[in-house]
Amino acid sequence: MKFSNFFAPTLKEKPKDAFLKSHEYLIRGGFIQQIGSGIYNFLPLGVRVLEKIKAIIQEEMNKTGALEVSLGFVTAASLWQKSGRYERYGKELLRFKDRKENEFVLGPTYEEVITELIKSYIKSYKQLPLHLYQINLKFRDEIRPRFGVIRGREFLMKDGYSFHGSKEDLKREFNVMEETYTRIFTRLGLEFRVVEADSGAIGGSGSKEFMVLAQSGEDTICVCNKCQYAANLEAARRIKKTAKTPPPQADFAKFHTPNTTTIESLAEFFKVDSFWTIKAVVKKALFEKGESALVFFFIRGCETLNVTKALNAIAGANDIIEASEEEIRSVGLCPGYIGAYALRNITQSPYIYFDKELEDCKHLIMGANEEDYHFVGVDLSLCEGIEFRDLIEVKAGDLCPKCGEDKQGELYLTQGIEVGHIFQLGDKYSSAFEAFFLDESGRSKPFLMGCYGIGVSRLLGAIIEQHYDERGMQWNKAIAPFTLDIIVSNIKDTQQMEYARNLYRALQERGIECILDDREERYGAKIADFELIGIPYALIVGKGLNEGNIEFIQRKNLLKEKLDSRDCVVEKILERIGS
Ligand code: ATP
Ligand code: MG
Repeated sequence: MKFSNFFAPTLKEKPKDAFLKSHEYLIRGGFIQQIGSGIYNFLPLGVRVLEKIKAIIQEEMNKTGALEVSLGFVTAASLWQKSGRYERYGKELLRFKDRKENEFVLGPTYEEVITELIKSYIKSYKQLPLHLYQINLKFRDEIRPRFGVIRGREFLMKDGYSFHGSKEDLKREFNVMEETYTRIFTRLGLEFRVVEADSGAIGGSGSKEFMVLAQSGEDTICVCNKCQYAANLEAARRIKKTAKTPPPQADFAKFHTPNTTTIESLAEFFKVDSFWTIKAVVKKALFEKGESALVFFFIRGCETLNVTKALNAIAGANDIIEASEEEIRSVGLCPGYIGAYALRNITQSPYIYFDKELEDCKHLIMGANEEDYHFVGVDLSLCEGIEFRDLIEVKAGDLCPKCGEDKQGELYLTQGIEVGHIFQLGDKYSSAFEAFFLDESGRSKPFLMGCYGIGVSRLLGAIIEQHYDERGMQWNKAIAPFTLDIIVSNIKDTQQMEYARNLYRALQERGIECILDDREERYGAKIADFELIGIPYALIVGKGLNEGNIEFIQRKNLLKEKLDSRDCVVEKILERIGS
């Protein structure tokens, strides 16, 4: 490719809303153009990188026997009504009507479509397992599209769905996908962690995310300093925390505790560690059809409630939001003094949960549901009917649930960008769609399903977040838009042009993707573009040619080296590029 014929509109100005380097450089480098909130055009450089990422994904997926399909972007709303997600999915689902008033959605994910497809064709265990995947546009009307292609509204996703006759076979495929994704992200040159993820209402350990480690990542992940354990903070576990101070000695009693509406003031009042206090966190849960209810979570005073874990505790809730002081007072409660005794009678709310680390705990201090009063000597082992759930947020320094007791592994927190998610769905969709097959003994059973996603366009941003410097991007050879930039310093110099053209042809013949910068631009501008675009290598054909030398540059460390222009240049370059 000759640069003079190419279209790479590079810019000097940083876009105003670009807070991440990946966002800034992809726009300034002429890879993408923003055309609306969370919507981008991909320009030739962007397409070249996307195609390489797609090729790696396809190669690795095809190796496993998965088959590529392409499902319609526009999906009949009736399919989404069948699964119940038409109402539940929320505003991210773009709903619209055609001229005949038929309802449609723009596909954000394809469990419904694929289940319906399989139901029409697959009837027997003999046709299983089957794994279909696609690399296609998705649309999610994200509330806050940002960070360029990392959180777009229209984006490219690889989504795969597998169908099985048994749990064991689903688990086998899940493991194959974990290995496959690991190979894909390794080939893309990423530093990443496979983490245990929140599986929402489905629960279990059936879901893992692939997190690219980057300070700019929106997800917080919890990693052990001694073993392989890693989890999204939303799903992180720990070894149960134990007391560092002796328990307050008191028999069960109601105690006058004025001005103790905060945990700090309460702990100070009794001169105890907040470990021995119980905090009530009141939220409002939102259900289908606009219904809502107050929900009560009881955790140790020294802990923080994790909102995702809290949401998972409430069957059927779509979301939880803050409860206002008026809402809390209107059911007869006094903020700062809320406790679990008689709470159900006072509020009529069935949604009362304790953190599971409080199970059977004694010597606790808890609100008495009366202004200025707390109970002391609370013994939860004597209380019946308490529902315990995992509710608390794991903190840095907590002990690893996998190796903590033996190796004393401690957890630390770091940021990640989610680039992949694999999920054992089970029969959630097949049951809703009555998608059944006949097993070996002729019994009708719902398919067991797995689903597997990769954020293909997000990867463009995630890769840059790990590979850039103050001058621009640093693509690795496997996915770079071009491998080598041959820069002619002065295109009016016929000797330079002639030499560069010959080299360009010879390297092209040897399979090296070259771009020949033959533009009528200043030398400095050409170098700046090479650095911004992040082509892995450049060759400078300039004045030095008279003395018999050209210059080879590696983008990553900007290492420069003079090569003898008269002697086996092509071989020397191939050697350095490693082709
Ligand atoms: P997130 O938590 O980042 O919103 P998600 O968990 O909703 O993502 P999935 O439904 O698991 O996303 O989708 C599979 C993959 O698609 C994700 O792992 C991510 O890489 C990518 N993806 C999801 N939403 C977006 C988006 N708005 N823009 C770009 N890529 C996205
Ligand atoms: Mg996800």
